[in-house]
Amino acid sequence: MSKESDNGFFGRFGGRYVGEILRRPLEELKVAFTADMQDQSFLDELNELRRDFIGRPTPFLYAERTSEQLGGAQIYVKMEGLAHTGAHKINNAAGQALVAKRMGKTRIICETGAGQHGVATAAACARLGLECQVYMGEVDVRRQQPNVASMEMYGAKVIPVMTGSRILKDAINEAMRDWAANFETTHYLIGSALGPEPFPDMVRTFQSVVGREVEQQTAERGIHITAMCACVGGGSNAIGFFEPFIDKKEPRLVAAEAGGIGPGRGNNAVRMGGDAVDGIVQGYKSRFLLDTDGQVSTTRSISAGLDYAGIGPQLAELGESGRIEFNAVTDDEALNAVKVFAQNEGVMFALESAHAGAMALKLAPAMKKTDVIVVNMSGRGDKDIFITSPVFRPKEWEQFLEAELVRLRSGTDIHYAQSMAEGDKR
Ligand SMILES: *Cc1c(COP(=O)(O)O)cnc(C)c1O
Repeated sequence: MSKESDNGFFGRFGGRYVGEILRRPLEELKVAFTADMQDQSFLDELNELRRDFIGRPTPFLYAERTSEQLGGAQIYVKMEGLAHTGAHKINNAAGQALVAKRMGKTRIICETGAGQHGVATAAACARLGLECQVYMGEVDVRRQQPNVASMEMYGAKVIPVMTGSRILKDAINEAMRDWAANFETTHYLIGSALGPEPFPDMVRTFQSVVGREVEQQTAERGIHITAMCACVGGGSNAIGFFEPFIDKKEPRLVAAEAGGIGPGRGNNAVRMGGDAVDGIVQGYKSRFLLDTDGQVSTTRSISAGLDYAGIGPQLAELGESGRIEFNAVTDDEALNAVKVFAQNEGVMFALESAHAGAMALKLAPAMKKTDVIVVNMSGRGDKDIFITSPVFRPKEWEQFLEAELVRLRSGTDIHYAQSMAEGDKR
């Protein structure tokens, strides 16, 4: 087993299944990325971005009260959600944007579903002085206005995609088309450890900073890790968190997929086990949830970041080889984990990350007190207030939204906006 792909392949998964026209930009990207990773001036610039812009290293916290309550393994939390823009996605966005800038690209395009990757990319582009266009399904644009507002605040242009079901998969297709037409000036910044070679290797490399910090933070405290838990959408936070440990026998690497409302087609996003099949979609071979026509299926999860129908090729391989154990965590278990960590530790997990948290809550009681579980809190939960509040306090939330509408329509905010605009003119 090796961390690096074998010419883009991880076992039978991965590859570069694209039309003739995209072969050249993919090869150029691979060459540029490989050279950058051996270039001290690139690494210095990347490290400066990590320290001053992203806020690395992110903290490593002992979940003392939770561990005590469970009476088994000691739980630690890698606080990746404290990274700038609220999640691990900025590690990849900043890294790829820097590679693109050094290649002489002036324009970045990306896809986004829930909008988290769009926000991270927009922020990284603003920081590096690159033009940014975000493809987003029109349905998602309507559902995810707070993130659209952030992307635009960072100066990005959000393009609603009107084709297909108008969701993430359609946005990816649109971004691919744009890239094929404009690769001379443009880099396509993919948001997870998937897509055609070299994206899975590149995204894992930029996210591996998370795992390497964990290695150092545990060594400093003399902690020996027994198990690590991460959630898996496309798989970028998990593969980065696990990276330094993949080639070792220990610790146990445990992945949590979106179990949604339970078993059954369309009720979850379980790609390892369940109903998934081998497929070639969006330029790479992996495990996908497909319908009977071979089209990408609809999935279900309370967390917008875990509802992708495919999975990164390296995770698919490591899941089949048994190095990574895969488990499904339901919506209810994730919601419970958000509450447990918030109330015991003062830390609010993103709903995605709460799947990993729930996994730790399940494992710990059966383990020894000397055992250690490290959970990757890939993101913080502030962004989920529009989902968690309607669940935990529906009445108050409805009243709040109604009052906001009244306030908006009363013209108070419009008056404020006008005086701001007049101030601009002076
Ligand atoms: C996007 C997202 C995920 C899922 O993406 P991966 O590529 O699987 O990491 C997980 N957690 C958070 C907080 C996210 O924003």
